[in-house]
Amino acid sequence: MPQKAEIKILLAQPRGFCAGVVRAIEIVERALEKYGPPVYVRHEIVHNKYVVESLKAKGAVFVEDLHEVPANAITVFSAHGVAKSVEEEAASRGLPVLNATCPLVTKVHNQGKRYVSKGRKLVLIGHEGHPEVVGTMGQVPGPVILVQSVEDVAELDLPNDEPMAYITQTTLSVDDTRDIIAALEDRFSDLEGPDTRDICYATQNRQSSVRDLSKLVDVILVVGATNSSNSNRLREIGTEVGVPSYLIADGSQLNPEWLKDAKTVGITAGASAPEVLVDDVIDALRRIGPVTVSVLPGREENIEFRLPAELTQRQPRPSPVMQER
Ligand code: SF4
Repeated sequence: MPQKAEIKILLAQPRGFCAGVVRAIEIVERALEKYGPPVYVRHEIVHNKYVVESLKAKGAVFVEDLHEVPANAITVFSAHGVAKSVEEEAASRGLPVLNATCPLVTKVHNQGKRYVSKGRKLVLIGHEGHPEVVGTMGQVPGPVILVQSVEDVAELDLPNDEPMAYITQTTLSVDDTRDIIAALEDRFSDLEGPDTRDICYATQNRQSSVRDLSKLVDVILVVGATNSSNSNRLREIGTEVGVPSYLIADGSQLNPEWLKDAKTVGITAGASAPEVLVDDVIDALRRIGPVTVSVLPGREENIEFRLPAELTQRQPRPSPVMQER
């Protein structure tokens, strides 16, 4: 059998874990160390099965509904954020809560609240049903209109001079929202929105790096979960620019057929995918034939978010519904 030609692997930079995900996972790990298992986590702490299974093995219990959390059990809210009603339910039950909502998601909640308090009608640009969107809509008092496309903007039943404002789901980048924002600007004479510098740095950086990668590779492999919004978006970007792109959870999902004619394979990872899974995909490629691995130059990230004070101080237990702001 002829020897398979060497595959050149290019890794996008940055890729994988963002500061919000690192913080959320650390909150669960530290809570397990400090208070002992079980620690209850409402929803997948981040959208990645490997991460969830690793935390389960250490004693985390994942639930979708607070009803499943026993009285007095330490409860963690996931990085995606929760609606006010969930906070209220936890408070009414006196649950000791650690809030792992990413500070950048909380910032979006606060922006939305400010716009509504100024009497503006609020539009949220995001994906229906995503936990972050459900949380944001449930945090902002007053109606929040979800807009998913330019067509949705055209269908808004509001006068053109209505005082309006918009906020966006954090896993959408400036590029993703540009057309919808332009449609809102065309449509409404009095529109306010957040500064573009306020969007999630990690989303933008990962999308920019996959665009750079796409100019140099024959195939793109995105490591991430199918329910991870930002991982799906990375795959879509690759496809949009004409490079066959596949979303895979780990090396076991690699299909050698995809690489038949590929000399150079690009790999990136969504913000919730750990580097160990990127290594697993590289190992799977190695089993097909010889590889060389190099990392593309990219933007340096050195952002860190503070942990909740209860986990860094000597307090015995978090008090009911601690709010991280
Ligand atoms: S992708 Fe951005 S908003 Fe989401 S958890 Fe990471 S840093 Fe926070």
